[in-house]
Amino acid sequence: MSTEKKESFRDRIATVDPSGKRKWIFAQKPTGKWYSARTYISWFFFILFFSLPFIYVHGRPLFLFDVTQARFIIFGKVFWPQDFFIFGLAMITFIVFIVLFTAAFGRLFCGWVCPQTIFMEMFFRKIEYFIEGNAAEQRLLARAPWTGKKLFKKAGKHFLFFLFSFVIANFFLAYIIGIKALGKIITEPVHEHVGGLLSILIFSGIFYAVYAYFREQVCTVVCPYGRLQSVLLDRNSMIVAYDHKRGEPRGKFTKKVMHEQGDCIDCMQCVKVCPTGIDIRNGTQMECVGCTACIDACDAIMDKINKPLGLIRYASENGIGNREPLKYTGRMKLYTILLGVLLLLLGFLLFTRKEVDATIMRTPGMLYQQRGTDSISNLYNIKVANKTIDRIPLQLKLEGINGQVEIIGEHNSITVKEEGQGSGTFFVVLPAKIIHERKLPIRIGLYNEKEKIDEISTNFLGPVAE
Ligand code: SF4
Ligand code: SF4
Repeated sequence: MSTEKKESFRDRIATVDPSGKRKWIFAQKPTGKWYSARTYISWFFFILFFSLPFIYVHGRPLFLFDVTQARFIIFGKVFWPQDFFIFGLAMITFIVFIVLFTAAFGRLFCGWVCPQTIFMEMFFRKIEYFIEGNAAEQRLLARAPWTGKKLFKKAGKHFLFFLFSFVIANFFLAYIIGIKALGKIITEPVHEHVGGLLSILIFSGIFYAVYAYFREQVCTVVCPYGRLQSVLLDRNSMIVAYDHKRGEPRGKFTKKVMHEQGDCIDCMQCVKVCPTGIDIRNGTQMECVGCTACIDACDAIMDKINKPLGLIRYASENGIGNREPLKYTGRMKLYTILLGVLLLLLGFLLFTRKEVDATIMRTPGMLYQQRGTDSISNLYNIKVANKTIDRIPLQLKLEGINGQVEIIGEHNSITVKEEGQGSGTFFVVLPAKIIHERKLPIRIGLYNEKEKIDEISTNFLGPVAE
């Protein structure tokens, strides 16, 4: 590398030229065991992505992320804004998981399961290979004048890109509003669902722009996770790495000089397959999404020149520098313990979460009321969130104490509609003789017909004891 090149290295991302223009990447199609494994995983991902919106449990979608109504369904359980603390904890767990996972396994997520990488490399890129051919043919086609053949190929590709972006946009929306609501948008008259149709078109446009034009820029410029790599990775993190100890000094392959140089024959195959346009031999770089294409490319070369595979492989920087195996460091152990505790807490909160949430408060500004000569009453307000899919005729009973609850209304019950909220006002009436203190703790049971669904503690105000 010349001094000028060394000095200017890393003052711009790999897909931008010195004048600031985008360098279009014509990535060569990878082949090899890692690419095959990623292909199988992508099939699994596609099956999940396109089938999950159809799965319903007890009349509810398995997953729904209805940001418009702040209602989320995860594994068939509804989460509302009242469950915000669970979300907060889930977010903290997620962040700790990302930190731990990245510290230990680098960008394994990006290369193997990130939807952006999977759709780009395993779906849209494959359509492109199918229509325009491999990298060299794509480059030739890009430079060729606009003939009928070029027009046909380009139009066909962009038509398919938009068509599949449209399909993905529909499913994406299904995760937000549910597949049934999406079905209505598709089947009912257009004027009844203008907003929904507009959303589908906007999402389609975004997906099309991402897969047809932005591509790797999403990972290198937009995605914050990529930018965080420099603080999340350490020298023991597992990354896709070039073994410079073994590969350098690199040089062209000639049998005569092979014993004087490293194993890298400078064939550039690892660079040609890279979808983000970097040379992994320059070390860990922000643009590397860990897609393993360079491992496959280099392994194929090593195989041809009868050298051991793994000149580029999953390894840590320390592993390569000191020829040490991957280590499970103290930092990783600490993150693991933290993550384990958070997961346990999150699991506990999820499984013990109530399907009916109620708050009872004494009506502000009121003390107590004398009822005849022998009873005292207090007035309370109740608010109830029903997270089930059934209407609940809520009844209230005093627990462990003599007295009665009088709900203000017709049927001595509060009806809370399915997945809705309800409120009411009621009196608790107690015999005066059992009130010996100013604030008497009482418990009120919440019943759905005969089934007790919750119990709430509150205070009953009585006359000041003489
Ligand atoms: S350097 Fe290798 S692993 Fe990283 S993005 Fe490029 S091809 Fe994929
Ligand atoms: S593919 Fe392997 S041998 Fe070829 S340039 Fe890359 S590291 Fe060197």
